[in-house]
Amino acid sequence: MTRRALAVLLALAALPASAQVERSDGPAWCRLPVSTWAAPSAAARVARPVAPDCDPATEGVRFEVSYTGFPPEAEGAFQAAVDTWACRVRSDQVVRVSATWEPLAATTLGSAGPFLYRNFGAAPTRDVWYPAALADALSGRDLGDGEADIEALFNSDFDDWHLGPGPPPPDLYDLYTVVLHELGHGLGLIGSLEVEGGLGFVGREPEGAFTYDLHTQTPAGVSLLDSDVFPDGSAALASALQAEVRFVGRAVEQVAGRSVALYAPPRWVQGGSYSHLDEETFAAGTPDGLMTPFIARGETVAEPGKVVCAMIADVGWTLAGRCAEQVGELPAVEPRVVATRRGPNPTTGRTTVTLTSQEPVSVRVALVDVLGRRVADFGRIVLVSGRTEDVVIDGGALASGVYVLTVLGGPEPVTLPLAVVR
Ligand SMILES: [Zn+2]
Repeated sequence: MTRRALAVLLALAALPASAQVERSDGPAWCRLPVSTWAAPSAAARVARPVAPDCDPATEGVRFEVSYTGFPPEAEGAFQAAVDTWACRVRSDQVVRVSATWEPLAATTLGSAGPFLYRNFGAAPTRDVWYPAALADALSGRDLGDGEADIEALFNSDFDDWHLGPGPPPPDLYDLYTVVLHELGHGLGLIGSLEVEGGLGFVGREPEGAFTYDLHTQTPAGVSLLDSDVFPDGSAALASALQAEVRFVGRAVEQVAGRSVALYAPPRWVQGGSYSHLDEETFAAGTPDGLMTPFIARGETVAEPGKVVCAMIADVGWTLAGRCAEQVGELPAVEPRVVATRRGPNPTTGRTTVTLTSQEPVSVRVALVDVLGRRVADFGRIVLVSGRTEDVVIDGGALASGVYVLTVLGGPEPVTLPLAVVR
């Protein structure tokens, strides 16, 4: 339980009007580097699937890929990875991918990532960015009106690709596996937190947290978005990101029994740290090794695996096919924010309100007077399921009267009246 000091602002501004839908200017990127990891044994090198194992239009999701510059064999490998994901998540909206085969830096195999939306009508959490394909799925319509949801670039200058359908030799990188990995980011396995100059930051481009960030925490269970503990732009956040970081959610807990380790080396790796699973825990050749920051020559991962499927569910997707089978039925939980008064009402001094939520949610908490003027702003509070957050209100600093604590950002606004007497 954390205690939150009162920051009385004399701001007279009313609460902001409902926000507009926003689209990010560009995608959030993962760049998968050429690595020096040793190839797994021949037995661990497998062939890719030959065809979709469902009807994407009715059981999964239809992808439309616009290919630029791909030789036919490379396009075949890319399309096979698309066909796998097309039967692992469910949406009635088309996922549009822009894929380009072009010269990239010699150390890069490929890059990909999602465009993002926030504050669309169906967004589960206000002010949080969702990958475009998921935002469309939740909205039941194409928010981008035909624009790409995912952008992917692959290195045409690279000589060591394995493009064919069979298992790769030990000295080549399997394009199918690399694309399957990059599309995992494109569907939402990417966070906004980063370290620069010894300081940790929450979402700078675009500004603000991603849905993935609602699920990351320290081993002690403190959300990395808890701005009391980890202020944006602080050394404390940088330290946490370069220590042990874990991903938690209902689906991950169901398949793994607990949270799972993310890649968090002691020195920040841009594009590698935080948005990948830990390389040592989920090593090459293990069934959950798809979303680690490195791929070895000869490494193949034919399926997302149950941990990755669970993470995809926790960021907001409805699973399909083998992912749905591996994760299993999740108990239905209504995302509900509850505010409970713990102190006296009316109050002459301090009183405490406890906030809980069944689902991770980022809320904005403020105290307003009867004219709707904000008299105190508690900022953004991340509620993690199973934990409580206390908001401490110092009635002694307020004039006599009736106030309302407002909690915005959950499925519906929560309000709690409070009276202050002298
Ligand atoms: Zn990656």
